Amino acid sequence: MGNQECIFCKISNNEIAAERIYENDNFFSISDANPKVEGHSLVISKRHFETILDMPSSLGTELLDCIKKTAAMLVEKHNSEGFNVVSNNFEAAGQVVKHVHFHILPRKKGDGVRVVG
Ligand code: 5GP
Ligand code: ZN
Repeated sequence: MGNQECIFCKISNNEIAAERIYENDNFFSISDANPKVEGHSLVISKRHFETILDMPSSLGTELLDCIKKTAAMLVEKHNSEGFNVVSNNFEAAGQVVKHVHFHILPRKKGDGVRVVG
């Protein structure tokens, strides 16, 4: 199902292989192909929704579960002290892949990373 031209649908369907950090019924997480910081990862919905506005609110609990489990695993693995959760919605906000996703950015004190928001 989903959008045949969508790269995240292909990863979701296993048409393109990607190691999953964590997954539940409706979301999974993978490492970002072009990490902005060490451990930069993405929480992605299994079904194709373009932005948060298209996602049923009933998926909120599972979304938070996937974000929390992924972030905790990354913080442990990379000895991080914190993390940012970022979601770009629509082109004006920097969304490139038109399939809803959440960036998890592990952080350390004084790492100098600047996150817009
Ligand atoms: P955004 O749409 O929020 O601007 O960012 C899309 C993100 O997806 C980028 O950080 C980019 O590096 C990542 N990305 C794009 N294509 C792929 C891919 O095929 N595999 C993985 N793991 N990440 C990707
Ligand atoms: Zn898609």
